[in-house]
Amino acid sequence: MSRKDRLAETLPSLRRVLARLRPYLRPHRAMLGGSLLALLAATAMKLLEPWPLKFVIDRVVPGVAADGAAAAMDPMTLLTLCSLSLVAIIGLRAVFEYLSTIGFALVGNRVLTAVRGDLFRHLQSLSLGFHARRRAGDLTMRLIGDVGMLKETAVTAALPLAANVLIFVGMIGVMMWLDWRLALLALSPLPLLWLLSQRLTRRIRDVSRKQRKRQGELAATSAETMSGIRSIQALGLEETTAGAFAGSNAKDMREGVKGKRLSAGLERSVDLLAGLGLALVLWFGALQVMRGRITPGDLLVFLTYLKHTFRPVRDYAKFTARLAKAAAAGERVVSILDEAPAVADAPDAVTAPPFTGRIQIEDLAFSYDGEGAPTFSEVDVTVPAGTSLAITGPSGVGKSTLASLVLRLHDPSGGRILIDGQDIRGVTLRSLRAQISLVPQEPLMIHGTIAENITLGAGRTVTQAQIEDAARLANAHDFILAQPEGYDTTVAERGATLSAGQRQRIAIARAALRASPILIFDEPTVGLDRASEAAVTEAIWYLARDRTTLIVTHDLSLAARADRVIVLGGGTIAEAGSPDELMRQGGLFASLRAQGGAGRAVAC
Ligand code: ADP
Repeated sequence: MSRKDRLAETLPSLRRVLARLRPYLRPHRAMLGGSLLALLAATAMKLLEPWPLKFVIDRVVPGVAADGAAAAMDPMTLLTLCSLSLVAIIGLRAVFEYLSTIGFALVGNRVLTAVRGDLFRHLQSLSLGFHARRRAGDLTMRLIGDVGMLKETAVTAALPLAANVLIFVGMIGVMMWLDWRLALLALSPLPLLWLLSQRLTRRIRDVSRKQRKRQGELAATSAETMSGIRSIQALGLEETTAGAFAGSNAKDMREGVKGKRLSAGLERSVDLLAGLGLALVLWFGALQVMRGRITPGDLLVFLTYLKHTFRPVRDYAKFTARLAKAAAAGERVVSILDEAPAVADAPDAVTAPPFTGRIQIEDLAFSYDGEGAPTFSEVDVTVPAGTSLAITGPSGVGKSTLASLVLRLHDPSGGRILIDGQDIRGVTLRSLRAQISLVPQEPLMIHGTIAENITLGAGRTVTQAQIEDAARLANAHDFILAQPEGYDTTVAERGATLSAGQRQRIAIARAALRASPILIFDEPTVGLDRASEAAVTEAIWYLARDRTTLIVTHDLSLAARADRVIVLGGGTIAEAGSPDELMRQGGLFASLRAQGGAGRAVAC
């Protein structure tokens, strides 16, 4: 034991979680208040429960009236009244408990559903840098598992714990009022119990924290395996991944067992100490009855309360274990909610007007880790509206990074990007990105029909004819019609049932449908066979006719068709000009193009 109160270590994190979630609770204040009242009423009924029995024992059973008030009443009437009031008390307690359980469950569910919705939205707004650092499976675990656990805890731990605290305080109060000496004696094992539960609760919390982390790892490993199943099978990595999974799985089990052992040990210790308290009260209380200081009925109330007083302390351990788990889960949720998006709307950001598409990149510098050597710097280039720029150069020089800066997927470390003369940091992300279509090397494919995949991100309702027009523009119409159900053919997750070239053309059709003035292609022809490459290239230039187009590519034959080319190298622009100029200059572009022979992609 350290000098610090153990519970105090779970409480701050719970408090932090609650403080963060308080705004979500505000709309449900009325229901929360009502549930609390119901809980108070249920507690009062619980306190009243042994009293009819006390009256029966003190005033009916001996057949003699103990005092004046009851003397006036016939014992049979008193017995009937006591029995009826017992039924009434138990009935009312059931009603109030039902109301408070339902009330708290409703609030808990509504609040956490809102939290989950916001968490999902927030996760999507976090930068690529954040997502590069985190494992997708772990984030999913937070979204589904941790929020679910908070939801469950609100009803299965927070509510009973609150009820127990009320019952505990109420019973101690009544016992003190009946006979304070007996009450003190009865409660004498409590400090010992308190110390014990503090110590074990902390260990339980540590174990739960580890277990949550482990479950995040398990989810991440399985998500990564499932998403890369093709490569895993091809490389014969099943055993390796199964080994990694089994390791985490076994640790999860060991931690689960350890947690169970700790809480079971705690519960049994409480039972023992409660037995001790009960024996003390029986012995000393019976003496008091014999001396006529209290009535047998009082002793009965004492003994009944005592059982109930120790149960909250015992359950307290169970509930604090759950609360400790919830605190760990809550912290995981809150830490993400508190993560500020690295790229966000400026406070004075305005909605961008429709762009004509002139892009100016001025003295641009970018570094992934902030202080380290920049990926590139001093990049200056202007792309007039409606023209195309090919960005080429060896692998890893920052071509994709440069293109993603135009979309503000990252912010530059220096310099700026202007569209139609306006710094892109001055407009809202939504209005900026709505006017730029990105066709990445691995386009996003959702589980759904081909038509649904084409309309993804269109931002408006589109007709079948518009979808087909877009597909024709993208050279995709014919292969789509050749599919078993044409446009209604279902595409597997990540487009696994289509070839890379087909996925590219669906992504190009998607871009065509968005009708945005700026297009960005990121290595659109990598990994395609000659026929697909020709179809995709044709689609790109068809689409690029009247839009500002940036093409990140290794494929120099593709680059050679652009209005202008920049070759990145040595951390900045190594060469810039029209393809003809660059060929005449005889620099890097010309030599790479020459090596590429007929113009196939060059492995730089
Ligand atoms: P290119 O498109 O020219 O092949 P990229 O723009 O993809 O190059 O990457 C440029 C450099 O930045 C590479 O060295 C790459 O390793 C690094 N890089 C890319 N993404 C990240 C990231 N999320 N975090 C840190 N470094 C990155």
